[in-house]
Amino acid sequence: MILRKQFLEHVGQTSPSPMMIEVERAEGAFFYTPEGKRYFDLVAGVSVSNVGHANPEVICAVQQQAADYMHIMVYGEMVERPQVEYARRIAELLPGNLDCVYFVNSGAEAVEVALKLAKRYTGRTELISMRRAYHGSTHGAMSMMGTPEGEEWKAEFRPLLPDVKSITFNSFDDLSDITERTAGVLCEVVQGEAGVRLPNPEWLRALRARCTEVGALLIFDEIQTGMGRTGAMFAATKYDITPDVVCLAKAFGGGMPLGGVAANRQLLDSFTHNPCLGHITTFGGHPVCCAAGLAALNYLVNNKVVESVEHKGAMFEERLKKHPRVLKIRRSGLLLALELGKAEYLYRLMEIFKEEGIMSDWFLYCDTAFRISPPLTITESEIAECCTIIERSLDRL
Ligand code: PLP
Repeated sequence: MILRKQFLEHVGQTSPSPMMIEVERAEGAFFYTPEGKRYFDLVAGVSVSNVGHANPEVICAVQQQAADYMHIMVYGEMVERPQVEYARRIAELLPGNLDCVYFVNSGAEAVEVALKLAKRYTGRTELISMRRAYHGSTHGAMSMMGTPEGEEWKAEFRPLLPDVKSITFNSFDDLSDITERTAGVLCEVVQGEAGVRLPNPEWLRALRARCTEVGALLIFDEIQTGMGRTGAMFAATKYDITPDVVCLAKAFGGGMPLGGVAANRQLLDSFTHNPCLGHITTFGGHPVCCAAGLAALNYLVNNKVVESVEHKGAMFEERLKKHPRVLKIRRSGLLLALELGKAEYLYRLMEIFKEEGIMSDWFLYCDTAFRISPPLTITESEIAECCTIIERSLDRL
């Protein structure tokens, strides 16, 4: 009780009604309150905890690296094994010539770096993003929330970046808005906060072709889709498209704060001259975070976790689409939006979920659907049990 009171007094808030669930510990697909109440974690820190909470291999890597060394010097000056090994592994797994990673602290910072890189490399100023995109909450990333839907979120923070244009995800017609003036086009491969909107693979190919034609950098935001969430290590590989730049964060740090911008070495080298120190960051690529991310990646690969994602996602979908309250399911791997049609149903369901021990959430641009994005390590029997609780909760609506 005291802790909750102090939480409201001393910890900065971003909503007038925080969930206020106290966490004591977390393991696998669950977290627990001090009273011993168990929650199925269907948010996973918004697609962060892909390898499950308290993953023993990640814990071991964190402990070992923390004991060896933590922070030494600002990013990019020292040779640190966890950074080098992680960057090498990511380069092996990314498509095409994406052979180099610039490490940062978060998703928004990765987006900032990618936008700066596009301007610096092309010498152009125009940036394009998709309507209903979410790329982070800093000024630059927020500028890329598409208009008009993003207006609700960004209006009070204007002026934001100039020379930013929005086009419609999956619109072939809008591709002609990408021109020789465009420095970069930023695009989520699957739009997460729009309520899980899948790309038309043909459109992704046309987007790639258009960017190549006019010399604009194609930047994929894989912050939510990366590290296995959609059933492939990266959504880019799922759709067989090689962008010029990939932004990574969330699960990329294995539960620790880490972001990355992957591109070709020559492209990323733009930051080394005219001016040098084109982007600097004290803690980017922190060795403990890189060790955690590398351990998480090795866990995904060694245990063939990504290979199980499509089947597990389909288990949720097949079972829950039968419930009369569920109007539609949009899904990519283990990223699902279950459409209820009305915001009032959703808000009521969130209350019921809290009682029933389910942690879910709505989406920034879609408050009529709820989210299922559990740790990718959730087992089949846990999915079956979870679906039973969700069905019971939907019955209570
Ligand atoms: N891009 C996408 C697609 C996201 O979903 C998010 C966070 O939800 C971000 C960027 C921003 O990441 P961060 O919160 O680490 O700044």
